[in-house]
Amino acid sequence: MTISNFAYRILAVASAAAVITVGGCASPATVHPVTVSDLGTASRTASLEASLARPGVATFRRVRFAEWTGGRGSFIDRKDPRTAAVPEGSEQAVIYAYVVDHPRFGRFLIDSGISADLEPRLGWIMRRGVKDLAVRIDQTAGGWLHGETPPQAVFLTHLHFDHIGGLIDLDHATPVYLGQGDAAERNFVNWVLGHPADSILEGYGPLREWAFRSDPDGTFAGVIDVFGDGSVWALHVPGHSPGSTAYLINAVDGPKLVVGDAVHTRLGWEQAMPQPVAPEARADAEASAARLRRFASAHPAIEVFLGHQSRVGQAEADLR
Ligand SMILES: [Zn+2]
Repeated sequence: MTISNFAYRILAVASAAAVITVGGCASPATVHPVTVSDLGTASRTASLEASLARPGVATFRRVRFAEWTGGRGSFIDRKDPRTAAVPEGSEQAVIYAYVVDHPRFGRFLIDSGISADLEPRLGWIMRRGVKDLAVRIDQTAGGWLHGETPPQAVFLTHLHFDHIGGLIDLDHATPVYLGQGDAAERNFVNWVLGHPADSILEGYGPLREWAFRSDPDGTFAGVIDVFGDGSVWALHVPGHSPGSTAYLINAVDGPKLVVGDAVHTRLGWEQAMPQPVAPEARADAEASAARLRRFASAHPAIEVFLGHQSRVGQAEADLR
């Protein structure tokens, strides 16, 4: 979400004693083992840009799983004076996943949707908070899988529970890839959430971290050619979380850019409103969002998919 933003807001109303207790409980997002990805080659933006000129080979679609409504303050940073002109109100947020079918490498998912078994895995503070969010589940990952070809791998935008919850319903032999640093991120928010990643990932093999290296072109923090054929790219866009990853898919109907929660709302994309993150992550979050916006505006053929909302004029995802 914004899950972390939401947890911050819960803490804001917690008692001082509770905050002191929580402050002493900074713990990693998960103790699940991690390993270096067996997939992908460190590359550069110039190669990614060259790939945009070639016809896409993969098919791409966005699938809708759930929706919640949250105060605008959990999506934009109300402490930042630039957000002062945005009126109070709420934002509708959707949990999406993306299905990519590659003619040679098969099917994979970007993010995972949601499972009906997610809520019991959250800590008590977060379970109470979730009740206020009016979460409506349209379908679970398990329900969606019925009659679908199961994915051969899951590529995560990041490790927050609204993006990994659907893993509960998938075959636990499925390899899971994500950016560097998300698993090890130490934050009191992990304690507030109740470390859901630990139980969600139980039974899965080690998380496979993309081996990003610095982008020689300086456009992104890192660029990986996932299959080595220029069809799918992982982009290191830290800030919302240390390992936040965007994905560029050269699809048969044009390039698609899944930005994850690096930019999760229209306010973040269209109006460049900063999102609320921990103070030490602000500079990264802002730089990553700016890099994505710049890259997309330099390549107007790219269709952009925000973390939790559709863009103005973009067709909303359906359930398949
Ligand atoms: Zn999210």
